[in-house]
Amino acid sequence: MAKGKDQHGKVDPARRRFLTDTLRTAVGVGLVAMTLGVYQRQARALPATAIRPPGAGDEQAFQAACVRCGLCVRDCPYDTLKLAQLGDEVALGTPYFHARDIPCEMCDDIPCVKACPTGALDPALTEINAARMGLAVVVDQEACIAFQGLRCEVCFNVCPVRGKAITLNYQHNDRSGKHALFIPVVHSKDCTGCGKCEKSCILEEAAIKVFPLALAKGMLGKHYRLGWEQKADAGKALVTPDAPHQYNLPEGMRYEHGGKGLVPEQQPGQQGVPPFSDNPLDTLNRKGGL
Ligand code: SF4
Ligand code: SF4
Ligand code: SF4
Repeated sequence: MAKGKDQHGKVDPARRRFLTDTLRTAVGVGLVAMTLGVYQRQARALPATAIRPPGAGDEQAFQAACVRCGLCVRDCPYDTLKLAQLGDEVALGTPYFHARDIPCEMCDDIPCVKACPTGALDPALTEINAARMGLAVVVDQEACIAFQGLRCEVCFNVCPVRGKAITLNYQHNDRSGKHALFIPVVHSKDCTGCGKCEKSCILEEAAIKVFPLALAKGMLGKHYRLGWEQKADAGKALVTPDAPHQYNLPEGMRYEHGGKGLVPEQQPGQQGVPPFSDNPLDTLNRKGGL
């Protein structure tokens, strides 16, 4: 009789159950491993609406340094931060916030950074205005009522870095022909990504939203040089010195920018010569016909 079979050649029921259970377990473990693998790959990138605490920096480096202790969440006095749960699109156990729910209040003493034991939240960040949690972007100009010519400016007024991170750009209102538009403009140099503008936007769905920097910020090619910026930094042109503008003037004449116009060049001690003679022939005979 073959091993595991009865006298009729059928598989022993106990052995069949053992084989079925083993197969089920193997398939189950495989599915769990596959699900975790997909989850891990998804969680490696931060979703568009999830913003990291101050000092988090590069996402890969942050995930590597964060030990998921939750101390930053515990010490956040505004309950802004939460730890990612299983099923969230954010890496499990890491801190983040949704600006539209509870934005960062930009605490002066930055307790979340102080609480972090690993440096995942950079301890070198001691000035909250230097935080770069994300970047605010006006995502829908058709919905933002400032673009329709109505006065709102709520996002501008709530911004803790008002006048630097967000300014109002006055534009002509083509629709009415006589009024101004007060357009909110965000400046990445000073926007901390706190999310207070997104939280306060009066629309049903915010027209200004904060995204992680990697999503919101473009980057100029490294080969580009903005000459006017380099010139301002250096105090002079770095490539070709600015040449004074040359006018094609009649010999012995110069142009007086103070309002006199064309005047004769004068040697020291020399009396001024009138630019034009009383005799029209003198003018015609001059070089250049003047
Ligand atoms: S700065 Fe303050 S409000 Fe913002 S995340 Fe840190 S503790 Fe919370
Ligand atoms: S305190 Fe630091 S290590 Fe702990 S969860 Fe927050 S970021 Fe991660
Ligand atoms: S996210 Fe909004 S409120 Fe916060 S600094 Fe940037 S523009 Fe200002």
